[in-house]
Amino acid sequence: MRSVSLLGSTGSIGTQAVDVLQGAPERFRVTALAAQSSVELLLAQAALLHPALVVIGDPSLYAVVRDGVPAGTEVMVGNEGLVAAATCADVVLNAVVGFAGLPVTMATLEAGRRLALANKESLIAGAPIVQKARRTPGAEIVPVDSEHCAVHQCLAATADPTTVARLLLTASGGPFRGWSTDQLDKVTIADALAHPTWSMGPKITIDSSTLMNKGLEVIEAHELFGISYDCIDIVVHPQSIVHSMVEWRDGSTLAQLSQPDMRLPIGYALGWPDRFAAPFGSLDWSRPSTLTFEPPDRTVFRCIDLAYQAGISAGSAPAWLSAANEVAVDAFLAGRLPWHGIADVVAETLDGWRDEPMDQVESVLAADEEARAIARGVAARRTG
Ligand code: NAD
Ligand code: MG
Repeated sequence: MRSVSLLGSTGSIGTQAVDVLQGAPERFRVTALAAQSSVELLLAQAALLHPALVVIGDPSLYAVVRDGVPAGTEVMVGNEGLVAAATCADVVLNAVVGFAGLPVTMATLEAGRRLALANKESLIAGAPIVQKARRTPGAEIVPVDSEHCAVHQCLAATADPTTVARLLLTASGGPFRGWSTDQLDKVTIADALAHPTWSMGPKITIDSSTLMNKGLEVIEAHELFGISYDCIDIVVHPQSIVHSMVEWRDGSTLAQLSQPDMRLPIGYALGWPDRFAAPFGSLDWSRPSTLTFEPPDRTVFRCIDLAYQAGISAGSAPAWLSAANEVAVDAFLAGRLPWHGIADVVAETLDGWRDEPMDQVESVLAADEEARAIARGVAARRTG
């Protein structure tokens, strides 16, 4: 029986993880749950799963959570709670959104546990310190992000990583595939939140509309698998059935296919190397279907090149990219920035980038703060 901490339990990944865990009660026991502020759902999950620990991000909600959890469940607050939750289980699913997931990633790896990683932002922004923590005996990252989960599965076919020629990350193309720059000038928040194939939280849905999500995933793939940027390509595949591919130097390509349902990669990351029976992924091959592939439009979707540039610059550049993007997405969702302004804010923030050493948690926090301050200024100017 594996114990699991599910952090970010009330979100899109978190609630799907509850489905997966409930489907395999003989394999998994939930020891901790965490959410920022959705008290009602968090308490319902606590009543269902009886974890030893529940963490609430917003300290003003402590009393209501303490009074609502089942007898015997401890309640903690904020980062201290997240760190405690990340060190009390065999597997930690980091499904917190954004840079706020960094303490979970670091505490899990430093405790020598398995990190089932959905929160790509912590790996991207904190890469130098995360890579160091990853060397802790017992520590390992199994990706939940569907593309990286696909690559992880394909790479199991080789014992010699030098035979890999390139990674091909697939992208649905988002809701604006094929749109012109003129059309994109008039995008509304509702347009950008209407993803054609995946149902996800608001931040990653906006990232998917700008293709920043794919850009972040290129950096994520580089960090996870150690493949150089010139060997990581993006392929637009609107059906979201092929979740990514690996090409070998002999010209052979392996792909992983399944329904676009995050419960499959969540279950894979929790159960690996075992694969347990689950109803979420299998395809119906008895019906005619077509799979198509095309290159992304890197002129319209400028976030792709911004991400490659930040990844290749390395150091604190990915942290700046991710921080500026979080600020810009928040401003867009608050109605303070047009959709095309997201790429503008990220580009202008990165223009002011200067590298700093990233060898301590404090330096990662400082880089994040500095980039956010600049990005807020840029976003405010563009609003005003
Ligand atoms: P979401 O917004 O739906 O949920 C985020 C969760 O994090 C919520 O439970 C929220 O309460 C919690 N949270 C936020 N800040 C917190 C804090 N400071 N302390 C404790 N909890 C906090 O987001 P999501 O779509 O589930 O995405 C989560 C992560 O997974 C993101 O990094 C995203 O990029 C990644 N991801 C998501 C999907 C998907 O299908 N949704 C796919 C791949 C990767
Ligand atoms: Mg993904």
